[in-house]
Amino acid sequence: MKNQFDQIIVGGGVIGCSIAYQLAKRGYRVLILEKNHIGCEASSAAAGMLGAQGEFTERSPLFQFAQESRALFKDLSEELYEKSGIDIQYIHKGIMKLAFHQQQYSKLKTIAAFQREEGNPAYLLSREEARQMEPGLTENLHAVLYLPNDGQVSACHLTKAFSLAACHHGAVLQEQEKVSGLLVENGTVQGVRTIEAAYYADQVVIATGAFGDELLPEDYGTLPMKGECLLLELDQELFRSTLWMEGCYLVPKQGKKVIVGASSIAGKTNKHVHAASVQRLLSRAQKMVPQLAEARISSFWAGVRPATADELPYLGEIPGVKGLYVAKGHYRNGILLSPITGIYMADLIEKKPVNPFYYDRFRVDRQSNKREKAGESK
Ligand SMILES: Cc1cc2nc3c(=O)[nH]c(=O)nc-3n(C[C@H](O)[C@H](O)[C@H](O)COP(=O)(O)OP(=O)(O)OC[C@H]3O[C@@H](n4cnc5c(N)ncnc54)[C@H](O)[C@@H]3O)c2cc1C
Repeated sequence: MKNQFDQIIVGGGVIGCSIAYQLAKRGYRVLILEKNHIGCEASSAAAGMLGAQGEFTERSPLFQFAQESRALFKDLSEELYEKSGIDIQYIHKGIMKLAFHQQQYSKLKTIAAFQREEGNPAYLLSREEARQMEPGLTENLHAVLYLPNDGQVSACHLTKAFSLAACHHGAVLQEQEKVSGLLVENGTVQGVRTIEAAYYADQVVIATGAFGDELLPEDYGTLPMKGECLLLELDQELFRSTLWMEGCYLVPKQGKKVIVGASSIAGKTNKHVHAASVQRLLSRAQKMVPQLAEARISSFWAGVRPATADELPYLGEIPGVKGLYVAKGHYRNGILLSPITGIYMADLIEKKPVNPFYYDRFRVDRQSNKREKAGESK
């Protein structure tokens, strides 16, 4: 039957496309339905940092998941290039976290100790050592924490590459087609409905990021966290590592470009870029690398991160609706977490054994999320 598939993936962001890729690679007939175009939301707004260390200051379920995901990128970049012809621009030049005074330095020392306890390289550098590695850095530094194993990719190239690689394995991609409802009979999902048609499958995965919550029971909604970014163009390359300070990061991109990010505005889904955010980001960017004052502003944009109450993603089957899965809520790290999420969800759908620790912490009806929600409403 023309509209019959093994799985339907609702949402063509990096998460939906990674899941589609893994399932199609395993021989399933997969349909991706995207209401606009591939990667049109958070997945192209992202700076593309793979901050498996930089984003974590303490042990958490996500920390381990992130480490596993980061380790997949090197081979993945080659695999996706072969299957899609797209270079995801994987760069492995580390992240530098900057301290401008003693108090910030003390925090970095604690993070360095934690990272080393976990077996990860983490180096505390003096101002002189840091400026030797990155001469573009300001002289007004106190010290730096260097995490050499964190890297970055181009988020929109990664998303596109996943979608084309899925199609390479036979997945069908329908853009400009919004899913308006689910087809459920006797507690089992049958497929989805769009304005154009009905599509049928044994499993449906909702991967709609910060949107599409109306498709799910109320309990499993996401919390939008808007972020604004700028792209700067330079005459010469000023640094090669990603640079980070409280409230700002700088991610150097191909072609002497730098992404400056990002604001965090809770509860907003609009895409306006505010003058005050631009001002704050630019002043912090120049605090880190003074020569950025001469850069040209090439573009600016906003995107919406899909957060959850306990800041862990929802990965699993919805209780009470057989075959209905959700993969949402990757918040600040969806690009980093996309490879492992694709594999994890494909394993769940195939009923393969998964790490019980992840299963317990990411399942949609977990206790921690309920506790956080109850706490929030106080
Ligand atoms: C400014 C900013 C910077 C970021 N930087 C980083 C970073 O450096 N590193 C990192 O790892 N992460 C970063 N993130 C987070 C990352 O972008 C997200 O976690 C990730 O993109 C989420 O992917 P997703 O596929 O879940 O959601 P999305 O990319 O939002 O995709 C969801 C898709 O579903 C579609 N959709 C919604 N409803 C429907 C429907 N009813 N029918 C059909 N389609 C539908 C949407 O159109 C959209 O294309 C950043 C985010 C922002 C906003």
